[in-house]
Amino acid sequence: MFESPTLIDQINALLPQTQCGQCSFQGCRPYAEAIASGAEDINQCPPGGDEGIRDLADLLGIPSKPLNTKFGVHKPASVAFIIEEDCIGCTKCIAACPVDAILGAAKLMHTVIAAECTGCELCIAPCPVDCIVMQPAPPSNTERSRAQKSAQAKRRYDARCLRKEKEEAEKAERAKKKKLALLKMQGAKK
Ligand code: SF4
Ligand code: SF4
Ligand code: SF4
Repeated sequence: MFESPTLIDQINALLPQTQCGQCSFQGCRPYAEAIASGAEDINQCPPGGDEGIRDLADLLGIPSKPLNTKFGVHKPASVAFIIEEDCIGCTKCIAACPVDAILGAAKLMHTVIAAECTGCELCIAPCPVDCIVMQPAPPSNTERSRAQKSAQAKRRYDARCLRKEKEEAEKAERAKKKKLALLKMQGAKK
């Protein structure tokens, strides 16, 4: 057992933060928690690859091991690209992107901000017209270190989580106000 919040944070910081779910967890932090508790092995993150496994092994003071390919294979860095003339503006890719790397609005063409895309591929499956393809990442992406990329992805993921929490709270508040107004109207009719 390695359990301690600090260790979870340290493990999480070594994971790529693409939130892709290939490790069989909902995101990087839940996998970090499972590693810290000793429940899961360190070699289940394909985006991190052998380098990531070595970093985890060093942190935990255990031997490194090869990536368990049951969870996928390590691929060269890539980014999503939207074939804009085919995009119907359904916004499903925006809802799927964990790092808010897609710009667009309902019924309008969408586009990927390549510098922010982690290559997680989570936007591909939801697209109803198959107009998202993966392409090699531009040099500006590959020149950044693994630590820089993971820190940037984490910042954007955390910001997105906060934004979604705020949106949910505002939605709940609106629903509450609507209910109160309805009750008031019903009370006035009696
Ligand atoms: S980047 Fe690695 S740790 Fe994070 S969700 Fe994907 S497979 Fe899991
Ligand atoms: S644009 Fe697609 S591939 Fe890129 S980070 Fe967002 S969901 Fe992942
Ligand atoms: S999911 Fe596909 S069609 Fe829908 S907005 Fe995104 S790129 Fe366009």
